[in-house]
Amino acid sequence: MMRTKEQYYEEVVLKNRELAADPEVTKCPCPNGLCDWHGKCRECVALHRYHGDHVPYCLQPLLREKIRALAQTVEMELEHKPPTPLEYRHYVRKRDAEAKNTEDEQQNT
Ligand code: SF4
Repeated sequence: MMRTKEQYYEEVVLKNRELAADPEVTKCPCPNGLCDWHGKCRECVALHRYHGDHVPYCLQPLLREKIRALAQTVEMELEHKPPTPLEYRHYVRKRDAEAKNTEDEQQNT
């Protein structure tokens, strides 16, 4: 049965406003703390959507459970894809630092 507009306001909208104001709910659960877009949900989702390769980390558990249940109905198994190595994240930082140093040197000459 569909909610009434009063139920929608009180049970959905007011509850979501309360949840959205809670830092525990809105904190980024992605383990890639070195990612440029960690905690920047709008940009993170937009970039994942643009590339169309996979969904942001925070949405994967939700989908994984649903897909696992579906896969079991056709006797299939799922396996994890290896994550981007941490070394790559550190390499990004190193390259950024080098680019900044070059830029600083050019400004000082
Ligand atoms: S889900 Fe992807 S873009 Fe978003 S914070 Fe994690 S690694 Fe970065």
